[in-house]
Amino acid sequence: MCATSCNRRNDVQLLVQVGGEACSHFRLREFENPEGLAMIHATTLDSLERVRRDLCAMAGEEVWVIITDAVRTQADLERLAARLGWADQGGLVARESKHLARFGGIAVDIVAVVKRTRERVPQKTLGEVCRRHFDWVKDDYQDGHVHGDNRDRGK
Ligand SMILES: [Zn+2]
Repeated sequence: MCATSCNRRNDVQLLVQVGGEACSHFRLREFENPEGLAMIHATTLDSLERVRRDLCAMAGEEVWVIITDAVRTQADLERLAARLGWADQGGLVARESKHLARFGGIAVDIVAVVKRTRERVPQKTLGEVCRRHFDWVKDDYQDGHVHGDNRDRGK
């Protein structure tokens, strides 16, 4: 539909000061939903940069933090629930998902990969690091991703 005109859609480098240092390792398009709508809360960007910084320090080399899901519309959520089920019916999708746009872009799902080897950082390791920098973390998903959100700071 917009294969050429959308190439630079949300192609915007995001910048945040972390401990007096300017950090800019994420682009707005990484936070897009399937329609290209993107939203990211300032505190969540800050948390992501801190998680990346800690992972790089631990590994002693560059680690990529990859966003697998960020903001969702109600329609996105319903599509996901059709596949994974609603949490109150034994599934995986919370009806009050912090990914919903009305929470302001506070939630992200991530994985982390060592750049040089393309090796996945173990889910529990990533979860531990996320707990230092996000208000709320869930790290027991079967596909290996970690969910982090700033439900307190994002209010
Ligand atoms: Zn999530």
